[in-house]
Amino acid sequence: MADKIFDCIILGGGPAGLSSALYCARGNLDCAIVDNNAIGGTPVNYSEVENYLGFDKIKGFELSEKFEQHVDNFNVEKFPYEEIMKVDLISPIKTIETQDKILKARTVIIATGARNKKLNIKGEDEFYAKGVSYCAVCDGAFYKDKIVAVVGGGNSALEEAIYLTRFAKKVYLIHRRDEFRADKIVQDRIKHNKKIELILNSNVIEILGKERVEKIKTENTKTNKIKELKIDGIFPYIGIEPNSELFNSQIEQDSFGFIITDETMKTNKDGVYAIGDIRKTPLRQIITAVSDGAIAGVEAARYLMNLKTTTVRK
Ligand code: NAP
Repeated sequence: MADKIFDCIILGGGPAGLSSALYCARGNLDCAIVDNNAIGGTPVNYSEVENYLGFDKIKGFELSEKFEQHVDNFNVEKFPYEEIMKVDLISPIKTIETQDKILKARTVIIATGARNKKLNIKGEDEFYAKGVSYCAVCDGAFYKDKIVAVVGGGNSALEEAIYLTRFAKKVYLIHRRDEFRADKIVQDRIKHNKKIELILNSNVIEILGKERVEKIKTENTKTNKIKELKIDGIFPYIGIEPNSELFNSQIEQDSFGFIITDETMKTNKDGVYAIGDIRKTPLRQIITAVSDGAIAGVEAARYLMNLKTTTVRK
C-alpha cells in the first residue's frame, strides 16, 4: 500500500466525498475514501431530510446509505474508521498518514465537513452523554415522556426540536433572538406544535445536576433575568465549525477556518480541492455538498489528464 499512488484520495465519506468518488470513479480514476468514522457523514444523524430533490421525505441514514450503495457499484477503495493524523498536500505526490497507513495520491479532495459548535458553558462537558447530546436521532428515544431543551434558531435546531416531540412530553426551544434563521416552512411547523414552548431572547448559561442533567439556567438578553428550567436533556444545535485543523498550515482558509476555493473547488494548492461543509460557501446543504463533489471529481480528472500521469486501470 505504501508504494501505491492513487489518482485521488478523498478525505471524508459524507455526501460531498461520496459524490466526488462517484465522479472520479466514472472518470476512471483510481480513488479511495478515507474517513475517521463510518462512511455516510453527518446526514446519518439527521432525523429527516425534506429538501433533497427527488425525495419528498427521507431519513438521513437512508439517504446516506443510498449514496454509499451507488458508489459501491464502482471500484472505490474505502478506509472507514481511519483517523487521519497528518497530511502533506504541498508535494506533487500528496501523503495522508493515518494511525496505521500511509496513503499517497496525485490529487486530494478534502471533504471532512464540520462539527457541532459547543455552548462552552458550565456543565456542558461534565454532563456530556448524561443529558447533554448533540444528536437527537441517536439519543431522542431515551427521552420518552421527559422534558428536553433544544438550543438554537437555525434549521438544525428547529428540525430536531420537532423530531424530539415524538418522544418527549415537552420541548423547550431556546433561542438568543426573537427571529429564527431556519426556513420559513420549518418555523411554521414549530408554531403549530403544541409540545414546543419557545423561550426567546435567552441564552443558556449553565447546565446543572447531580449524576445527570436536572436543570438549566437561562438569561434573558433584554432584561438580564435569570430563570431555572427543570429538564432531563439538552440538545445544543448552535451551528457548525469546520474540521480543518489538519490543513491549517497548508491550505488557505477564512477567519473561521472554512477552506477557500475557486469555482472549480480548487484550493490554493495544485491538485487539492475542498468540497461540502468545510468549504467557504454561501449555502451548506446536502444538495450543494453533492454538487461540489461532482465539480471536484471532474476537475481532479481534468488536472490529472493535463499532468498525463493518470494510472491506467486494468
Ligand atoms: P446555523 O444555521 O448556523 O444556525 C445556528 C443557530 O444557533 C443560529 O440561530 C444562531 O443564532 C444560534 N447560535 C450560534 N451561536 C450561538 C451561541 N453561542 N449561543 C446560542 N445560540 C447560538 O446552524 P445549523 O442550524 O446547525 O445549520 C448548520 C448548516 O447546516 C446550515 O448551513 C444549515 O442550512 C445546514 N443544514 C442543512 C440541512 C439540510 O441540508 N437538510 C439540515 C440542517 C442544517 P443567531 O440566529 O442569532 O445567529
